[in-house]
Amino acid sequence: MTTIFEQIIARKKPAEIVYESDHLIAIKDIHPVAPVHLLIITKKVIPSLQQLTEAESFLLGEVGLVARQLAEEFGISDCYRLLTNVGSGAGQSILHLHFHLIGGRPLWGIG
Ligand code: 5GP
Repeated sequence: MTTIFEQIIARKKPAEIVYESDHLIAIKDIHPVAPVHLLIITKKVIPSLQQLTEAESFLLGEVGLVARQLAEEFGISDCYRLLTNVGSGAGQSILHLHFHLIGGRPLWGIG
C-alpha cells in the first residue's frame, strides 16, 4: 500500500508542489492551519522520525535548509514553526516522514 505522499511524489495525485530535490518534496497542505502551511516530505518512505536510521540522518539537515529557504520565499522567516508528529496520539495521520512548516500568523505556545 502506498501513502498519499508517495502518490504525490509519483505525480499520481495532484498537489501544489513548492520545492523538489533528489531527497525531498515540499507541498502546500490541503487543510492549512495558517496562511502558510507547507509539508516537507522525504521521498524515501520512512514511517516517522522514530524509524530514521543514522544513514538517513542527513535528511534532517536538508529539511532544515529547505525550511529556511521556503520560510524566506513565503515571507515568514521571522516567525514560523517546523514540526513533525510521531504517532497517532501526536496527530500523525500519514505514516511517511514529513515536517509541517507553519507561519503567517502569531503562533503562541505549543499545539
Ligand atoms: P500529519 O497529521 O500526519 O502530521 O500530517 C498530515 C498532513 O497532510 C495534514 O496536515 C493534512 O492536512 C495533509 N494532507 C492529507 N492529505 C493530503 C493531500 O492529499 N494533499 C495535501 N497537499 N495534503 C494532505
